[in-house]
Amino acid sequence: MATTTSARPTAWCPSHGTPLEGGPILFRCPEGHRVQAADIDREYQPRRAEQ
Ligand SMILES: [Zn+2]
Repeated sequence: MATTTSARPTAWCPSHGTPLEGGPILFRCPEGHRVQAADIDREYQPRRAEQ
């Protein structure tokens, strides 16, 4: 598997369930919008739509 280069857990879009880029304060969703860290539910567990 890929080597994890970041100590931070992956942030997931609360709307799309997709992995976000950027952070730790402001993330970018591949769907084309931004998500603030405060809007991310840290308990959120996205469904595995793809592997
Ligand atoms: Zn999104």
